[in-house]
Amino acid sequence: MRVQDLLDRLEGVRPRGAGKWSARCPAHQDNGPSLSIAERMDRILVHCFAGCTPEAIITALGLGLRDLFMDAPLSQRQRATLLPQTLDLTAIAFQFDLAALDRRLRAEQVLTAVAAFTGEGIEDSQRNRLVKAVVRAYRDRERAELFEGVADALRVMAYEERIARHAA
Ligand SMILES: [Zn+2]
Repeated sequence: MRVQDLLDRLEGVRPRGAGKWSARCPAHQDNGPSLSIAERMDRILVHCFAGCTPEAIITALGLGLRDLFMDAPLSQRQRATLLPQTLDLTAIAFQFDLAALDRRLRAEQVLTAVAAFTGEGIEDSQRNRLVKAVVRAYRDRERAELFEGVADALRVMAYEERIARHAA
């Protein structure tokens, strides 16, 4: 059954966003719209907020539970528009590369400055700040390595996915 066939049998139907409706529940004395209807890939979901079971709802409409399943499976194209776009792993990997590079540059900047620093006439408070900056620089380097690792793993996944698609 198509979702429209179900909606036609209900009262007080209102759209609630893409593939979602509310209506008066046919299985109990419903003054407000207690029933929510949602269209999924291959079936229709019904939920009564007053607690009626899907079976009670569908029976009240003179239908069976199997009517909640859609007649024809969706075409490949319909499926593609319903499913979230497959993640572009290569693009995500690139984002990790950029984040890694950003941290590497920041770390190098600090460490180069510190290496050139003689340490003469430095006050305690300044020394503390310097130490903190160096610690952060090393942490940036670690984080960069981590991000590069993630980027590599994502590229491997993207590669394997491509192979799998070609094999299918
Ligand atoms: Zn109900």
